[in-house]
Amino acid sequence: MSDTLFHKIIRREIPADIVYEDEHLIAFRDIAPQAPVHVLFVPKADFATLDDVPEEQALVVGRLATAAAAYARRQGFAGDGYRVVMNCNRDAGQTVFQVHLHLLAGAPLGRFGTAG
Ligand code: AMP
Repeated sequence: MSDTLFHKIIRREIPADIVYEDEHLIAFRDIAPQAPVHVLFVPKADFATLDDVPEEQALVVGRLATAAAAYARRQGFAGDGYRVVMNCNRDAGQTVFQVHLHLLAGAPLGRFGTAG
């Protein structure tokens, strides 16, 4: 297994506010939230970026999305809405090189995707 910050959280070597875990993935609150709800969904399988996930491993990514949706339903904000984001490499601002999905919710969210 690689040695990113998120791998250390998976191995319980550093603390995190874990809100969900199963055999495939872990979810914990972002330390610098960009919305009232900001949870990161991280697979236990080792892939640095979305670009490193081969098609035959598509379920690794699919599970992040369905786990985020299930969390939103359990927490009661699925109907109000939420956003999921995956940053890949430099131009998207990826800072932790273990693939992950951001779940953002809890207030109307601004538009996204602008350059600069
Ligand atoms: P990204 O920029 O897409 O690579 O996202 C990495 C995210 O990890 C950022 O939103 C950070 O705020 C978050 N982060 C960094 N360190 C921690 C930590 N120790 N616990 C929880 N989230 C973290």
